Amino acid sequence: MLAVFVLIDALGWQYLEGREFLNDILPYRIPLQTVLGFSSGAIPTILTGRPPAATGHWNLFYYDPKGSPFRWLRFAGFLPDALLDNRVTRKVLKELGRRVLGMGPLFECGVSPRFLPLFNFVEKTNIYADGGIPGSSSIFDELTRRGIAHRVYSYHHLSDANIIDQAIQDIQSKTASFFFLYLSEMDMFLHMHCKEPEQIEKRLRTYEKALRKVFKAAREVDSQTTMTVISDHGMTPVRHHFDLVAKIQALGLKMPDDYLAVYDSTMARFWFFNAEAKQSVHDSLNKLSCGRILPDEELRQLGVYFEDRRFGELIFLLHPGWLVSQGDFNGKGWMPTGMHGYHPQDPWSDAIFLSSSQPTVAVRTIADVYSCMQNAAGLAPQIESLASRSGGESIQTGVTVGTRQPTGTAQA
Ligand SMILES: [Zn+2]
Repeated sequence: MLAVFVLIDALGWQYLEGREFLNDILPYRIPLQTVLGFSSGAIPTILTGRPPAATGHWNLFYYDPKGSPFRWLRFAGFLPDALLDNRVTRKVLKELGRRVLGMGPLFECGVSPRFLPLFNFVEKTNIYADGGIPGSSSIFDELTRRGIAHRVYSYHHLSDANIIDQAIQDIQSKTASFFFLYLSEMDMFLHMHCKEPEQIEKRLRTYEKALRKVFKAAREVDSQTTMTVISDHGMTPVRHHFDLVAKIQALGLKMPDDYLAVYDSTMARFWFFNAEAKQSVHDSLNKLSCGRILPDEELRQLGVYFEDRRFGELIFLLHPGWLVSQGDFNGKGWMPTGMHGYHPQDPWSDAIFLSSSQPTVAVRTIADVYSCMQNAAGLAPQIESLASRSGGESIQTGVTVGTRQPTGTAQA
């Protein structure tokens, strides 16, 4: 049986609620809770069914002074910022990282070059390729092991429109029975236009038309084809900015002697090298009303707790709608109207699950998409896998918050 999965990056449930979007062909519709973090954590969770704490894929940069592929850069540490940290050096480092140091095609210089020798980068391999999530088995690894012909399309090769065309061609030539289309362009669109309903409507119509064509082509080859459209997270409208970097710099502590910080759009991560620095940053953050420090217990529940603290000894998360106004993650002058990477309980962060057939397992979080893909591909006995997973790792690590429905069906 043919199965088609389409992942539309950042298409949140809030953007479809109350709107028509393929309702006739995809009548089974559920919001999905995402995982804390960005696509770099969410997509590996979809592809493996396991939380970031298990895959090791969370944010892109982690503290690893011994293993850093940029160790050699420490000899440039004496250079002033004007020379060491500017647009040109960041661009050079990006290209070096991608082409010479084996950091993969997605590598961006998301940390100041001055501190780069202390960090390593998670996504060195193409996560959509076989063995792309080392230490875990992705749906693609499994399909390969079982000899099931499949095709994966991602922005590593093509634009969204090209992916649609290519997939239709491959479906028609019956080259595979499992298709996974990753469409990445909606993310940037919603970052810039999430407050413009007319633009969104127009964009959704384009995707609707394209996906209808895919479905039609697949049903012509196999009338039993199932199609499922999912996303990895939503997009929350930005309402406030806060200069967290300036706030912390004003404490007068020194990087990297006293502490290290990486500022993502919605999150700051800290490592400390003395007790005073730790206390000072803690006290300062605790006074802020734009976000909060996440306790370890909560990190565990969210499936993002790492014993060795490689992603930060302290994680400060902004409340939904707040944005770090100058970060490492975003280039200068980038002023998005929408952002993701907030607490998974923020309704704007909800992802989507839209399917032509009733899911055979309970679907509540993006991790559950994995079982749906296994079943659609004819892998894994579903009852067993659900029972063993709900009694095992997913409860401990807590990506699945709340209870699964015992009947193993989802609300449409
Ligand atoms: Zn994004």
